[in-house]
Amino acid sequence: MSDIRPHEIMVPTSDPDDARLHFIGRIHTPWDDRKDCPRQGKQDGPECRIEVFEPWVPALKGIEDYDQIEVLYWLDRSRRDLVVQNPGHSDKTFGTFALRSPVRPNPIGTIGAKLIRVDGANLIVRGLDCLNGTPLIDLKPDRCAFTPKAAPK
Ligand code: SAM
Repeated sequence: MSDIRPHEIMVPTSDPDDARLHFIGRIHTPWDDRKDCPRQGKQDGPECRIEVFEPWVPALKGIEDYDQIEVLYWLDRSRRDLVVQNPGHSDKTFGTFALRSPVRPNPIGTIGAKLIRVDGANLIVRGLDCLNGTPLIDLKPDRCAFTPKAAPK
């Protein structure tokens, strides 16, 4: 990857073979192309399907109790070597850690999504902003709604 915008800074990086993550599912959205994909999801966005793979399906037990969930995903089609970026919507440059750009050393995306329903191994949600086929890293109940399940008595 060598095409960068004026004033952006690229650094040499090791081959990205060190994540050692388990992708636990796949996210199905209407967007195959970045130009169609929202920059941040909206709660009234289209219904999308989060497919959870075995053996992780039993890990969904209880998630139906939450209206809001956090979704963590791997922005698999991102470059990973920019330390300074010139976002398409701006004529200024910013450090990568001052942006929510998908371009980052470890391209993890997070979003709060509205849980519509659980259908077996699939969660139907609104509010996503990722490309069709994006790998799923993790799911958590929304931090505000969550009550620790093993709180001391
Ligand atoms: N909500 C997440 C966050 O803040 O961590 C992601 C925000 S990022 C600005 C969303 C953009 O990333 C989308 O508009 C699209 O251009 C890009 N994107 C979405 N899915 C991607 C993927 N699988 N690989 C690379 N880029 C992706």
